[in-house]
Parts: sequence; C-alpha cells; structure tokens
Amino acid sequence: MGVSVATLGFPRIGPRRELKTALETYWSGASDPETLSGTAAGLRENTWLCQHDLGADIVPSNDFSLYDHILDTSVMTGAIPARYGWKGGPVDHTTYFAMARGAPGVTAGEMTKWFDTNYHYLVPEFAPDQSFALSSTKAVDEYREAKRLGIETRPVLPGPVTFLLLGKMQNGGDPLTLLPRLLPVYADVLSQLAELGASWVQIDEPVLVTDLSDAARAAFTDAYAALTKAVPGIRLMLTTYFGALGDNLPTALSLPVHGLHIDLVRAPEQLAPVLEAARPDLVLSLGVIDGRNVWRADLSALLDRLEPVFLARRDIILAPSCSLLHVPVDLERERDLDPDVAGWLAFAVQKITELSVLATALRDGREAVKTALDASDRAAASRRAHEKIHDQTVKARLAAITPAMARRSSPFEKRRQPQHDSLKLPLFPTTTIGSFPQTPEVRKARADHARGLLSDAGYEDFLKAETARAVRWQDNIGLDALVHGEFERNDMVQYFGEQLSGFAFTKHAWVQSYGSRCVRPPIIFGDVSRPKPMTVAWWQYAQSLTKRPMKGMLTGPVTILNWSFVRDDQPRSETCFQIAFAIRDEVLDLEKAGASMIQIDEAALREGLPLRRADWQTYLDWSVTAFRIASSGVQDATQIHTHMCYSEFNDIIAAIGAMDADVISIETARSKMELLDAFAGYQYPAEIGPGVYDIHSPRVPTVDEMVALLNTARTRLRDDQIWVNPDCGLKTRKWAEVEPAIAAMVAAANAMRT
Ligand code: GLN
Ligand code: ZN
Repeated sequence: MGVSVATLGFPRIGPRRELKTALETYWSGASDPETLSGTAAGLRENTWLCQHDLGADIVPSNDFSLYDHILDTSVMTGAIPARYGWKGGPVDHTTYFAMARGAPGVTAGEMTKWFDTNYHYLVPEFAPDQSFALSSTKAVDEYREAKRLGIETRPVLPGPVTFLLLGKMQNGGDPLTLLPRLLPVYADVLSQLAELGASWVQIDEPVLVTDLSDAARAAFTDAYAALTKAVPGIRLMLTTYFGALGDNLPTALSLPVHGLHIDLVRAPEQLAPVLEAARPDLVLSLGVIDGRNVWRADLSALLDRLEPVFLARRDIILAPSCSLLHVPVDLERERDLDPDVAGWLAFAVQKITELSVLATALRDGREAVKTALDASDRAAASRRAHEKIHDQTVKARLAAITPAMARRSSPFEKRRQPQHDSLKLPLFPTTTIGSFPQTPEVRKARADHARGLLSDAGYEDFLKAETARAVRWQDNIGLDALVHGEFERNDMVQYFGEQLSGFAFTKHAWVQSYGSRCVRPPIIFGDVSRPKPMTVAWWQYAQSLTKRPMKGMLTGPVTILNWSFVRDDQPRSETCFQIAFAIRDEVLDLEKAGASMIQIDEAALREGLPLRRADWQTYLDWSVTAFRIASSGVQDATQIHTHMCYSEFNDIIAAIGAMDADVISIETARSKMELLDAFAGYQYPAEIGPGVYDIHSPRVPTVDEMVALLNTARTRLRDDQIWVNPDCGLKTRKWAEVEPAIAAMVAAANAMRT
C-alpha cells in the first residue's frame, strides 16, 4: 500500500454556499424535494471528483448531510422522538427538517457545539425504552452513488459509542445502556456496505480524545468486538480527532479494528507512543494537516517528521487532522485578500494538495516535488519574519506586562460606593445587553453602504437617526442604564476585528455553523493592536442625547479569540493578551470621554474550555487574565460590566468570580434562575443581572412572570446585588416585541422596589 492520501470529510455547503440557497429555497416553499435532492447530488459529485483530482486516494462518502451528520445518524438508527409522529419506514424530508428546525406544534431537537468547534450538531434524544431500527439507507445510497460515478469511496459513520455519548436520555439515564440494542443497526449498515464492495469504513469516535469513564471504555471494547464479529468482511478505520488519545490509548489500540487515525496537529506528541504500542499490522492514518485552521503547512518541517515514520512502517495514510468541514472550501475564490496574507493560507482544496505533495515526497523523494516544497519553505520563512505579522511595539508591550495591569486598584467592596455615588442608580436597576433590533431597514442600509449605493455620510446619518430613536425610547420608558443599540455593528467580533491590526477578513470563506447557517470567521494573522478608537464617537453621540448613564459596549478578548481563526505560530494565550491590550486602550478612551459604565462581553468564554478537564485551569487562568487586562485600567468609580449568554456556571464559577467585574449579566429566564445557585453557593460578591426575558422567543413576557423570576433571584442573592435585564441582546427581535417586553421589565423592577 505504501503512502496514500485520505480525506475524512469535506465541506458540504458548496464553494458558493449552494446548499444554503437550496435549503432555504426549499424551506420557503419555492422548490420541491426533488430540486433539493438534485442540488445535493450535484454537490456530492463535485466534491468527490474535486478531491480525487487533487490527489486524494481515499475519499469519503456519507460525510455529506442536508443538515447535520449526527441528525443523520439519529435518523439512520431510527432514534426519532415520538413527538414527530414517525411511524417507521423511511424518514421523509418533513420529519427530518422538523427534527432539525421544529415545525408547527413540535419543537426541534436540542443543538449544541460539536466538541470544541463552532459547528453545532443536533443532540440525539433517546426514550427510556428506545429501540433502534435501520431507517435510512443514506450511507449505503451515497456509497453506491459514488461508485456509479466511478469513484470508490470510504463511507463515514459516526461511531456507536460517540453517537450514544453525544446523546441524551429523556429520563436523564445513561445512554450507554442502549449499546446492545444499537449495535445490530450498525452491523446491518456495515454488512450492506461490505456487500456492495466497500473494503474500508471510516468510523469516527472523537470521544476517544475526551475524559472517559471505565464504563465508556468497556463500551468501546464490547462495541468493536461485536461489530467485527458480525461483519468480518469489512475493515474499520477508527478515527479520532481534536486531541490526544492520552489515557484512552490502550483502549483504542486494543480494539479489533484494522486502522487508526490520530490527530497529530492538536496532539503531535502522541505519534511516538502510538508508533511504539500499535500492532505492526495496524494501518496508521496520520492527521498532519490542520483540519481546524486556515494556515498553510510547513511541508519540509512535516517531512522531517514523517520520513522516519515512513521508513519504519512503509504503509501509512496521510490525512487532515479531522474533517475539513471546519475550514472554508477554496482559497482561489478569495481574490481581494492581501496577497501576503493569502500566501500564508490554505483552505480545504489547498490542504488536499499539500497532502498529495507530502505523499509524493515520501514515495519519490523531495526532489520530485521541489517546486511545491520551495514555495512552502518561502511561505514559512515569510511568516516567521514578515512585518505585517510581527509588530515589535506590540511584543514589547506584552513583554512588559505586570500583575498590576491585570488588577483593579481596589477590591469590589471599595469600588462599590464610588460607583453608586456617581451613577445614582435605584435598587433593582434596569438595563439591556446592548443591541436593539437589526431591522430590515438597518440591514438594507448596511448592504447598500457596502455596495456603494449609500454614501458614508448617508449611512452615518441613518445610523445616527436609529441610535437617537433608540436612546430616546429607552429614556422615555424609564430604563436606568442605557445603550446605544449597536446599529453600526454587523457582528460583535467582526466589527472590532475590522478596526484592529493583525486581522484579515474574507469575502467567500464560509464555514458551516449549523444547517444552512454559515459564518466567515475573521483570520488573526499577526500581532494585534488598535490604531485608533473604535467605539468612542458612537458612545459620545449616544451619551449626548440623555442624562442617564450610557454604557460603553465592547466585545472581550476571549470572545474575539474564540470566534476567529487564530494564528498557530504562537500560543493562543499570547494572541489573546494582545487583543486584551487593544480592548484596554478602548476602555480607557471611553473612560476619558466620560463613560462611567463599560460592558465587556465575553459570550464565548465558556465555550473555549478545553476538551479535557485537566486542561481547564490553564485555559481559565489565561482567559481570566486577558479579561482583567482589558478591564482593569479604569478608576474605582468606573463600573465594569460583563455579559455571558449561557446558563451553566457551576464548573467555572471561581473563574467568573476571578474576572472581578462589577456587574455580570447572564442568561437565566429559561432555567428559572436555577443557575443562580452557583453564584449563591460561591458567595459571589458583585452585582448580577439574571436575565428575566427569554430573547430567543418572540413571546412577550408578562410583568408578573418577571416579578416571579426576580423574587426567585432574591432567595439566592442580596437585593442590592440584583440588576434587571433581558437574557441577551435584542438584535434578533422585532421592535413590536421589544417595546412591550422592556416596558413590562421596567414595570417589574418598579414593582420590586415598592
Ligand atoms: N452586546 C451584545 C448584544 O447585545 C452581546 C451579544 C452576545 O453576548 N451574544 O448583542
Ligand atoms: Zn448574550
């Protein structure tokens, strides 16, 4: 076999987001299922041919999905909750999309983040008496479809243990108890694939890089023994990614599979232990090209590591670290990018080419691919030294960081009085999280401005009018701490990234977030600094319209980091500290301009937690430090707010406390204030705004409901700790919902005061 090149999965949305368009047209009722299926088949065909032409020897099938591959697995195994009214048999589009997105009268499945990526999957939902039955032939059909096009593929299935562990039992029980019932369905699919001629199947078990219980490890042993026995004719490539096997390595190596894929980008250190302990006949697939990030690889450096492995083992597969789902499709489309920056990047297409160069070099020697290696060497050298990346002033500032920079001058108890003296807020002060509705008019003005149809001055006038209207409305309705409304912001990260040095933005580099939703994360390629104030003028304008305090509104360094493609030539923490200094400068400029209340949102702090618990503290230490660098330069009397849009704090409450914000607003409306237990148990000293308005729903809450929630909050917190606010920003809502909801919220606060 020698060296071959494999891919583990390719972006599904298409180079021009064709799948998004096809899905949304179908959902709107403007096209039929056949048209949607036709587009999907076209995308699959192009994807297979493209990977093949780029030099991939092993190309996957069944990595495509109309919405999500875990949803596909729920459908494949018949794990379809009763509320969808499915009676068995093939699952049609209506049921499938009801599970994905909800339908009149039925809620969608829960969605959550896929490991530590920004992709979201639909959480499998199991009944206590769940039975499984093969209910979709998608995996088999797509294998056959490729074969008809003359392409032999390696079908992909999410593995049974990962599938169960990612799911939830409706009664809170342990999904692993369902394994014996689930395995026959897997065996059935595998035998059908074997009958059609598939020799290998890629079976993804990424939970093997997470902390596993003994029971979960035992489940692996049982599952793979059973599958190998049931379908002796097929070879399984057990595929792991997003980290090191670590303490699960012995389990992984003990399984009766024919191949093992390991992630050598996230966990290069596992190569040696795997080589040492793997059976000689185990086919190793080495994930050497980063499937999670957009950087061009240093091919010569990789060859230095790979050549000895090749000499020792002869048969190896080279692959991306994980599915290429997480990177954009093709750099070639990005015509307007700075050519220097473009020279440092590789998207899905380019990454397959890199693998093919590596394979040729191993097979035929480096001379055979000299041109490609030279180009890679030049790119690597340019990245090491380029002035667009390396800013000595930024590096010097970071080197001179002192503990005092990450500490407010006084503790919270001392800051509290000066803040209250200057702000003169009532008990149960009311505020909102920052954004007001991004109406069709706001979007249109932004789009017109971007296209040159609306002048800079015209756009500015429009934004001022929107801001003024929002400020006057807040003033009239009686909110205590006002916001300007964020009408000028396209996105809470992009808006800042576009004004910072070291960031690049793409036009076409979309990646799937979930279903038809795609994002274009900023690319942080160089040292970050802030050439000039970013938000001060908007804050000044808004404050000029009211006597009440206007909050300055910023996105925090950890959130900017976690929602971007981050450079890989220095630790993430270092990049985060650079962003933190840029935000610190902005905070100080806001304060200088007169802001006495500044909110620094850290929506993505929790989601950046590493997959392994043992790594949590290190992450929390530097991310909290970054927040504190950003927030600690101000006077005692300046009140620092932060906001986090989630409702699970138990694990990280000490870190939240260590952020030392004066006020934190969180999402609590749906959880009925349960999460406040974490704050109460920890004796969180500072002020808290537990959300009383679920902004994810169009429903307008009543005064009584909000009073009831606040009364619950009162059982966990002191009265003088409690703020009254919605769960999150209001950008996705309509004014017709926001106006009555916020009026009711103000009334609820008034009721609490009397
Ligand atoms: N200030 C932002 C807003 O109101 C916060 C959004 C968020 O945390 N997701 O939209
Ligand atoms: Zn939020």
